[in-house]
Order: sequence, then C-alpha cells, then structure tokens
Amino acid sequence: MERGALEAAKASVYDLPMQARRPREFTTGRCDGCGLPADGPRPACEEMRDELLAREFEQPAYWRYHRMAVDAYCLQHPRRYCESAKSLAAHLCGLCIAFDMNNDAAILRGIQQWLSGNPALSKPILPGSRGDKTIADVYDLDEPSAYGRAVEGWARSVWAAYEDLHNLARDWVSQSRSGRSSKAG
Ligand SMILES: [Zn+2]
Repeated sequence: MERGALEAAKASVYDLPMQARRPREFTTGRCDGCGLPADGPRPACEEMRDELLAREFEQPAYWRYHRMAVDAYCLQHPRRYCESAKSLAAHLCGLCIAFDMNNDAAILRGIQQWLSGNPALSKPILPGSRGDKTIADVYDLDEPSAYGRAVEGWARSVWAAYEDLHNLARDWVSQSRSGRSSKAG
C-alpha cells in the first residue's frame, strides 16, 4: 500500500471515527441507517464496519475497495456521516465518479481538492430508502476479489437509491472540474 494514500485517507472523510460522537443510529432494535438488527449495545453494522476497516487498513488486497465501501456505508448512515453538505458531496461524488466516470483518479483528486476549499453547497433532501444491500452482504467474504465484487454490488444499490441526486452529483463533479467554485461567505 502506498503510505501517502493511507495517510491521506486517515486525514479525510474516509477515516471514520470508531467512537460514536453522536447518538447511535438505532432506537428500536434496528439500525435506522441501514436497517440491520442491533445485536447488543451497538448496531451489528458498526461491529462489521470496524472489522472490515481494520482489514482494509492492514491488507493491501482489500485496501483498494476501501473508498467505495466507505462511500456506501456513509451514504447509508447519513445522520452520522453525511451531516454536512461537504461530507455528503464527498461520498456521493465518490460513487458518481466510480460508476459514471470509470473511477477516474484525476477527477477524484479534483473533487477532493475542490471540497477542501469549502465551496458553498446546499444539502438536498436525502432518500428515505438507501439501497437493498448492506454491509452484511460483503461481511463474510474472505477472498479479496469476491469481496470487491460484493462491495461494488452494495455500492451500486446505494447509488441507485440516490437516483434523485445523480444530477446534483454530476453537477458538483463538473463544478470541481471547471474550477468555478463559489466560495462560501
Ligand atoms: Zn447500519
């Protein structure tokens, strides 16, 4: 794994806090982000997330799927991970670039740079239903390429659920490419 890439991820929206800073996403025995049952003092999806993140950080064969898995997870748990328009834009544009733009690395760097300049963004209404696959669909896969295919299926289900925001995501990407960022304030 490239050390620079890891350091960059750790300093970005891809570094998920392991300790909850806000109320949990579940109130009635289910995660109100992804719908998985809560099996104890915290949602089962959080346990799976911590395990998968640790594996991605430790094993390069899994690291390549890290960004897509985090984008899918965060868009399914927007109350904690997409609270700001900026964090929503990062994850939504991540999937937009992955699926619409052949995962173009230069475009991805461009959106990250554009967002780091804090452009003025308004947060749209988010979909109430956020995909028919969850982290449970990728959790048990112990072979990297099978895991990668499952992460893509999970992320595609999330991207499809956010269909009403596809044009907004494309517009954000094109703003980042044209450099016409309307700075906040
Ligand atoms: Zn969940």
